[in-house]
Amino acid sequence: MRFQVLTIFPDLLDSPLQEGIIRRARQAGKIDVAVTNIRDFAVDKHAMTDDRPFGGGEGMVMKPEPLAAAIRHARQVDGHVVLLSPQGRRYSQAVAQELAQRKSLILVCGRYEGVDERIRQNYIDEEISIGDYILTGGELGAMVIIDSVTRLLPGVLGCADSVEHDTFSRGGLKYPQYTRPADFEGHLVPEVLLSGDHEKIARWRFVAGVRMTLDKRPDLLGKMSFSKKELQLLEKEGMYPGAAAKEKN
Ligand code: SAM
Repeated sequence: MRFQVLTIFPDLLDSPLQEGIIRRARQAGKIDVAVTNIRDFAVDKHAMTDDRPFGGGEGMVMKPEPLAAAIRHARQVDGHVVLLSPQGRRYSQAVAQELAQRKSLILVCGRYEGVDERIRQNYIDEEISIGDYILTGGELGAMVIIDSVTRLLPGVLGCADSVEHDTFSRGGLKYPQYTRPADFEGHLVPEVLLSGDHEKIARWRFVAGVRMTLDKRPDLLGKMSFSKKELQLLEKEGMYPGAAAKEKN
């Protein structure tokens, strides 16, 4: 999958692209990330990428010409054009899964008070927000998308199971996890996890994940669906996800 990031601060993405799973995915050719400086497409001799807003008011606005030229250039290689924006569709694991189906994404990072509206209207396929708060620029949002989409791509994580059992993959939260030592300051690991009985462990993890969801994020239950067998198991444990949760066919 190819990511092209358009930004006036290309160095901001350096370090996150050079560590851990993302670095390995790049080295293995699973992803290709090109970071382009919008300033290279500026039209005046001072390489200006921003200007004062028409109508007055605070701050600066990103000029349309350099952005348009950078997007046109990126589009030569193809790609769905995403503007990082607090006004966009709210990012989630479901959106990450949707974007992971694409071959190429062009991530446009705003700065200052944002981009000229005519860019949004004529050059952008969709706007994505990474949450209801304001960042100083779109670069961290672009990195959030690159990171979360990359780990969904086939062959990127060592074990495909990690994605399947992730929090949100079935709509709810992941079960709690433990590692050595089995006794930490007198707090013991649940015995079933030491039993070696894989079926029992899978059942415990399923119930524990639903319990976590009920405790921490009951709002997610409506997005989950359970088989008859799973519902019976939950009832046996005294949990009634109830009308909020759908029954799977
Ligand atoms: N003045 C704008 C407003 O009130 O909507 C906010 C501009 S913000 C300071 C500058 C840039 O940061 C935006 O153009 C966008 O690219 C990025 N940005 C800020 N918050 C974001 C968010 N929650 N999600 C995605 N991008 C964001």
